Amino acid sequence: MTLPFLPFTRPTIDEDTIAEVANVLRSGWITSGPKVQAFEAALSDYCGGRPVRVFNSGTATLEIALRLAKVGAGDTVITTPLTWVATANVILEVGATPVFVDIDPITRNIDLDQLESAITSTTKAVIPIDLAGLPVDRDRLYTIADTHGLRVIEDAAQSFGASWKGKRIGHSFGNGGDFVSFSFHANKNLTTSEGGALVLPADVDTGLCERLRLQGVQRFPDGSMDVDVLGGKFNLTDIAATIGLGQMKHIESFTTRRRELAQRYFARIDPSLGLELPMADFSNNNWHMFQVLLPAGTNRGKFIAAMKQRGIGVGVHYPALHLFSLYRARGFKEGDFPQAERVGAAIVTLPLFPAMPDSDVDRVCSALSTSLQEIE
Ligand SMILES: *Cc1c(COP(=O)(O)O)cnc(C)c1O
Repeated sequence: MTLPFLPFTRPTIDEDTIAEVANVLRSGWITSGPKVQAFEAALSDYCGGRPVRVFNSGTATLEIALRLAKVGAGDTVITTPLTWVATANVILEVGATPVFVDIDPITRNIDLDQLESAITSTTKAVIPIDLAGLPVDRDRLYTIADTHGLRVIEDAAQSFGASWKGKRIGHSFGNGGDFVSFSFHANKNLTTSEGGALVLPADVDTGLCERLRLQGVQRFPDGSMDVDVLGGKFNLTDIAATIGLGQMKHIESFTTRRRELAQRYFARIDPSLGLELPMADFSNNNWHMFQVLLPAGTNRGKFIAAMKQRGIGVGVHYPALHLFSLYRARGFKEGDFPQAERVGAAIVTLPLFPAMPDSDVDRVCSALSTSLQEIE
């Protein structure tokens, strides 16, 4: 018997959510409305009462955060080269200059020692990301940011449901907290199909955030309107918000299940294969992805093809982004960030999602052994 193809991830949408989406579709109001407001309230509650606004993508929340932080031409923003390219693209989008800092090979997140030495007089903000759901050290991060007067925009696209020392990501760390950006893309731990949310610092005008989200339009009680800033078109629909509300009910159980599966991988992967495993953290990390590094010299393309032949989907998240043409054209090259380049060239994402049974971890582990042998 051949088992069905196992993708590296798959969303879990319950029947109540599907029924609620159908109700919205029949209601006569399918764009932003009451469901968006309810979703924002639920997210705010989840984030310790902080103001939260939702958007049609995680990328939009990052860009709006930069605009609200008044980052633009002449400013530099520090981030990691080992992330989804959106994290760096938004810096270019607002006219600022990205500065990359290499990763710590243990956490695979931005190296905080190197971050501190990369700060200059033009550095306005830092965008750390919690790769695969493992949070960057929030204590150290905010100590650095406060010392140097930097704004922090936490790219928490992958860390919804994760915690730092018992406090969920999205809560405020450091001096009153700063921006936290979530993505609700289909592959993320909480999804709205596409979408995002921005947790706002206390000193930011929520009205301005809303205007930047929708064409800069301000409406007055007498029915008149004005446009005072250049906003975009970034609002979330009630259809998407309804999916998000349905997902919120399961976030704790999703995270618990992901941690169990990750632990099973640690127990079942044959150590003699020579794979470099992720950091074994089962209290902070939400295990958005289970990522291993292939042994030096392994042909990743052949490995992925061998796994696919055994019915198993493997992802690549991510090649070091400073080596993409867009960034090479801005002067970046091989050798600039050796750790990110080494990890980015060897990393693969193995299947892990809440509905996956234990037996599928075992299936992946035996396919790992046979695939690596086959392509040797
Ligand atoms: C998914 C992701 C984003 C972008 O989110 P979208 O909702 O796809 O726009 C940004 N940064 C990181 C680290 C991500 O994983």
